[in-house]
Amino acid sequence: MTRMRRKTILGARFPGDRAGNAGLIATVAMAFAGVLVGALSAYLGQRGATAAAIVRAPSEKIEIAEDPARAERDRIIAEIVSGAPERLRPPEGQLPAYVQPAARPKIVIILDDMGVDRRNSERALNLPGPVTYSFLPYAGKVNDLAQTARKAGAEVMLHLPMEPRGDADPGPHALKAGMTGGEFLKTLEWNLDRFAGYTGVNNHMGSKLTEDIAVMKSLLGYLDHRGVFFLDSVTTPNSAARQAAKELGVEIFARDVFLDNDVGDADSVKAQLSLAERIARETGYVVAIGHPHPETLEALGPWLTTAPARGYDLIFASGLRRVESADEPQAFAAAPGLRL
Ligand SMILES: [Zn+2]
Repeated sequence: MTRMRRKTILGARFPGDRAGNAGLIATVAMAFAGVLVGALSAYLGQRGATAAAIVRAPSEKIEIAEDPARAERDRIIAEIVSGAPERLRPPEGQLPAYVQPAARPKIVIILDDMGVDRRNSERALNLPGPVTYSFLPYAGKVNDLAQTARKAGAEVMLHLPMEPRGDADPGPHALKAGMTGGEFLKTLEWNLDRFAGYTGVNNHMGSKLTEDIAVMKSLLGYLDHRGVFFLDSVTTPNSAARQAAKELGVEIFARDVFLDNDVGDADSVKAQLSLAERIARETGYVVAIGHPHPETLEALGPWLTTAPARGYDLIFASGLRRVESADEPQAFAAAPGLRL
């Protein structure tokens, strides 16, 4: 098992506020007198833009490793989701190597699409925590709402609009496949500068764009230099995010469960929450994404207040870094190679 670097990427610098953007490229270039690499530069070069180069410190090693622990977790989740019964639970003493049986399963609840439906977004902020709220950058007065969430002690993410397959509209200022490198960078920066204080980014839609490994390497490289993580919403089974992350040597996370694909059905939300609990029990943790729909909020409120008593640790999305890091003695992850 080969470990990829992690602390240098997201551990040491994890600002409460987004990194300043002005002159980013120049600043980075001065800070690391290093090697020009990068996904973004490659992408921009490929797209014919002249503007940019991202610099990576020469000491940072990029390795692409096989990841049996990750594959084992994928297998367990696939069997759970396929509806297989409890027999799936490994016999006592044979839990996957990366799960410490004594540790409490970790659950991350993310509500995204926040900000556009103002009324329901405000209702969502009244949920008991911990909930991670991911805001659409184009929502009106988005910074006000995001700061309200932060002041209330919640974690905030940025929900980045990306081009889907089909006719669905990702909204204004979405990243699109047909953009030149310059347009891509300008649009990305517009989105990233709309509000402050987010810890990470997850994709809004994006079933088309996240399949493009060149785009994903550009995006992940850029987010890494901004000091924020990427969490793949997994809106397509063919997302290239994980491969792009491996090739760049950055740490990313991924959604396991959508809570409310059946919009308007609180019972379905409850069933998905049970599914999330089971994945957490059997693999150590789970990432669930829902939306500020009334039925989702209705089901989530009581669930959030009772989950700890049922043995689960509710954590913010950025807490995944600790879950995933074997460098933290209290982390459940025993296998160094476990990653998303
Ligand atoms: Zn969305």
